[in-house]
Amino acid sequence: MTPSFSICVYCGSRPGATPSFLQSAEAVGRWIGAHGGQLVYGGGNTGLMGTVAEATLRAGGRVVGIIPQSLVDREMAKRECTELHVVHSMHERKHMMAERADAFLALPGGIGTFEELFEVWTWRQLGYHDKPVGLLDVEGYYQPLLRFLDDSVATGFVSEQVMSMLRVGHEVPALLQELVSASRAAPQGEDLSRI
Ligand code: AMP
Repeated sequence: MTPSFSICVYCGSRPGATPSFLQSAEAVGRWIGAHGGQLVYGGGNTGLMGTVAEATLRAGGRVVGIIPQSLVDREMAKRECTELHVVHSMHERKHMMAERADAFLALPGGIGTFEELFEVWTWRQLGYHDKPVGLLDVEGYYQPLLRFLDDSVATGFVSEQVMSMLRVGHEVPALLQELVSASRAAPQGEDLSRI
């Protein structure tokens, strides 16, 4: 069956220091599955990544995992994915993840998550796509980063318009609903091949 939406989730390959991070990843997966959606993610089975994928599958959703060959063992590729793509490089992974999704959501994570979030956000700034980009702030994890970004706007390096492209939320259902609705309203026909 065709999924009702497809969302790319970036998140930690580690579980984080308190259970609330894993719980939020689980809530994201449950919501995607319960709403007939598709998760696109990095294909690993560790940390928040493994949890969001497992929860999506258990709730009846589709899961598209995309992992570079070099990380198959290190990130424990999740063989239970509805589709598991083993690709040649990190660039191929990120490109395919972006193409297969209608919207992007970053959960708490480490530098891999930061890099992926900033990349799709800059691609949006450059007009390579029109897909919504969200950030789930769990337990204030992203508050220091958000303060820094506000400073960057005040200092003149980031425009208000670009800042407003990042949809920050604290509640899983509200943020996911907002991203899915925005993706349906977004103009079609972006050209990721320019990247
Ligand atoms: P982390 O947030 O550091 O736990 O990493 C989360 C995911 O990001 C993992 O699947 C990593 O393989 C991936 N990742 C790590 N480094 C990069 C990078 N330079 N570009 C894109 N993804 C990365």
